[in-house]
Amino acid sequence: MNRRTFFAHGGAALGGCLWASGCSTPSRRAHTPRSEPTRSPVGAAVPSKRHLVTLSFDDGFQKSFARIAEIHEKHRLSACLNVLAAGFPDAAYVTEYTRHSPWGDFGLWNELQRRGHEVMPHGYRHENLQKVSFEEGQELVRRCLGVFAEKLDGFHAKKAVFNFPYNASTPELEAWLPTQVQAFRTGGAAINPWPHRGQVRLTCRSFGPGNAEAALDREIDNLLARESGWLIFNTHGLEDEGWGPIRATYLERLLERLLAVETVEVLPAGRTLLKYAAR
Ligand SMILES: [Zn+2]
Repeated sequence: MNRRTFFAHGGAALGGCLWASGCSTPSRRAHTPRSEPTRSPVGAAVPSKRHLVTLSFDDGFQKSFARIAEIHEKHRLSACLNVLAAGFPDAAYVTEYTRHSPWGDFGLWNELQRRGHEVMPHGYRHENLQKVSFEEGQELVRRCLGVFAEKLDGFHAKKAVFNFPYNASTPELEAWLPTQVQAFRTGGAAINPWPHRGQVRLTCRSFGPGNAEAALDREIDNLLARESGWLIFNTHGLEDEGWGPIRATYLERLLERLLAVETVEVLPAGRTLLKYAAR
């Protein structure tokens, strides 16, 4: 399969906007991070994987997250799962996209982690940290990380990626968070610089409230059109669960298609940093 045929199998969007771009067309600006793998002179080693894909699933719907894990397992992949410390959201996040979906708990998150998946924090009760004071934001992050330390087996905040609820960060929180966690994910460009030591700010795109498949296909198309890069796409549940869902059948086909591209590696965000940025 080549890049031109990659999207022939893609899904259809039902309408909505790109979270981080205000419905604008994704930028196709070229970039050349310093540590990015490049076409090499004769004899030099070239990393075989030049396109990293992180499918970053947020919120923690019990049914969807169990299924997302199973689908990844079929392909011997680890899912990137970001969940709420309190196990349920605050009232502002109980919407038509979330109110009918049971939430998972740390019993399930520990089981999925044991099966090889990555579980990371997505806020205490999904508070919008742009709408609280800096001090309140700090307290909510600390409370979130405290619950993870207590309830998620082997959790170390300094190895964690904090995934901002609503992808809503502030400059003050972004400056402070690296003292608490390894890295954080917020809204911004879908394609990140090649992972490198000291990288703390990860950015992503999301799409909703309708089906996010076509938007995800476009971002993968953008990634594969580049020499190299790290795509982080933020999505939520499967079928009718969550804002901007995708179908289980689409996820299965997507992983199959990605694994068929020899330059692609599908990895959770934390493991991407561990594998590629720790050198
Ligand atoms: Zn969320």
